[in-house]
Amino acid sequence: MTRPRVVIAGLGETGVLTAVRLAKRYDVVGISTKPALVSGQELGLRLTRPDWWARDYHHSFAALRGLDRARVLHGTLTGADLASKTVSVAMADGTIVDEPYDVLVISTGVSNGFWRRPGLESAEEVAATIDGTHRQLARARSIAVIGGGAAAVGTAWNAARVWPDKRVDLFFPGEGALPEHHRRVWARVRGELEAAGVGIHPGHRAVVPAEIDRITTEPVPWSTGQDPVHADAVLWAIGRTSPNTDWVPAELLDEHGYVRAGLDLKVPGVDDVFAIGDVAATDPLRSSARNFTFKLLARNIRAHLEGGPLKTFTPPRRRWGSVTGYQDDGLVVFTARGQRLRIPRLPVDRMVRARVVDRGYYRGIRR
Ligand SMILES: Cc1cc2nc3c(=O)[nH]c(=O)nc-3n(C[C@H](O)[C@H](O)[C@H](O)COP(=O)(O)OP(=O)(O)OC[C@H]3O[C@@H](n4cnc5c(N)ncnc54)[C@H](O)[C@@H]3O)c2cc1C
Repeated sequence: MTRPRVVIAGLGETGVLTAVRLAKRYDVVGISTKPALVSGQELGLRLTRPDWWARDYHHSFAALRGLDRARVLHGTLTGADLASKTVSVAMADGTIVDEPYDVLVISTGVSNGFWRRPGLESAEEVAATIDGTHRQLARARSIAVIGGGAAAVGTAWNAARVWPDKRVDLFFPGEGALPEHHRRVWARVRGELEAAGVGIHPGHRAVVPAEIDRITTEPVPWSTGQDPVHADAVLWAIGRTSPNTDWVPAELLDEHGYVRAGLDLKVPGVDDVFAIGDVAATDPLRSSARNFTFKLLARNIRAHLEGGPLKTFTPPRRRWGSVTGYQDDGLVVFTARGQRLRIPRLPVDRMVRARVVDRGYYRGIRR
C-alpha cells in the first residue's frame, strides 16, 4: 500500500521538526534552499561565537537522524498548483521537478536582515556568510545595534561580553526595549546590558536606509532629532520581516502576504494545506514557531489523513524564551509572565540539549 505523501515546503526550524515527526509513518519530502538547518535563533551568539552557536543551531540534514527516512530536495519552490496538488521546484542542479502531495505544509519562514535570507545556497556559501559577518564585527572597534527586539538586545549584550574592548551601543525608538515581552523582562535585561557596558539609547528612531540586509558603515541619522551616529559596524535588527511566499498562490495569503492559517494550523478554504512558523498568520505575534506547535501539526496531519478531529493551540499574548542565548554558565529563560529562570550549564547540557533538543526534538544528531 502506498503511504500518503507529505510535502514540507521549507526545511527551517519548524519544517524540520515537523518532518522528523512524520517521516516514520508517511512518505515525507522536504524542500529547502539550504542543504542544512540554519536556525534563525540567537543572532547575537551566531555573530560573536559562531562555532558555539553552530553546536545547537546549524546542522546538515544528513546529521539529523530523524530525517533519515525523509527525502530532501535541495532547491527553490517556485509555485504550487492546488488543483493538481503539486509544487514546482527549481533544483540546485538546474533541473525543474513537480512534486505531488497528499498534504502540503508551508513553512518557508520570513526574510529578516542578512541572517535570514531565502535564496539558494550551498553548504560552503552558508558557512562563508556566517564567517564573513562574524569577522566584520570582530574587526570593528565600535558597533551600533539598531532595534529593540530580542535579536537586537541579544546581539548588543553578546558583543559587549565577547569583545569588552569595543564600544557597543543599542538604539531603539521607545522608552524601553523588548516591547513584546512582559515589562519585567526589560527591567531585568537593561541591568544586564549596563553591567556588560552597553550604551543604552532609548528614543532613537533611525532613518532606515534602502539596504539593511548587510552590516552598514555609513552614519545613522535619526528622525527623532539627535545627531547622526558613526560606528564601524551598524547592525540593523529592526524586525523588518517579509514572508517567503512569492511561490504561494495568492488565494492562500492575507493582505500582508503571510499564509492564512487557523489555530489548528490548517489553511482555511483549501484542502490538504497546512502552515506553520513565522510565515503562518495564526495570531497577531505569528507565534506558531515558538510554542511546540510542530507537535500539534504532526498530530493534526495524522488526524486529517485518518479522519479525526483537529486540535488547536492557544497563542501566548507575550513573547517568552531566551534573550541572550546559551552561555558558558548556562541559560537564562524569561517566561511569558516575565519570570527569569536560570538553568546552570550542567543541566542545560545533560537535560535540555542532549535529551530534550538532540534526542527529543531531532531524534538524534550525528556529531
Ligand atoms: C524549538 C524552538 C525554540 C525557539 N525559541 C525561541 C526563543 O527563545 N525566542 C525567540 O524569539 N524565538 C524562538 N524560536 C523561534 C525562532 O526564532 C523563529 O521564529 C523560527 O526559527 C522560525 O522558523 P520557521 O520554520 O518559520 O522559519 P525558518 O527557520 O526561517 O525556515 C524557513 C526555511 O524555508 C526556506 N525557504 C524559504 N523560501 C523558500 C523557497 N522558495 N523554496 C525552498 N525553501 C525556501 C528558508 O531558506 C529556510 O530554510 C524558537 C523556535 C523553535 C522551533
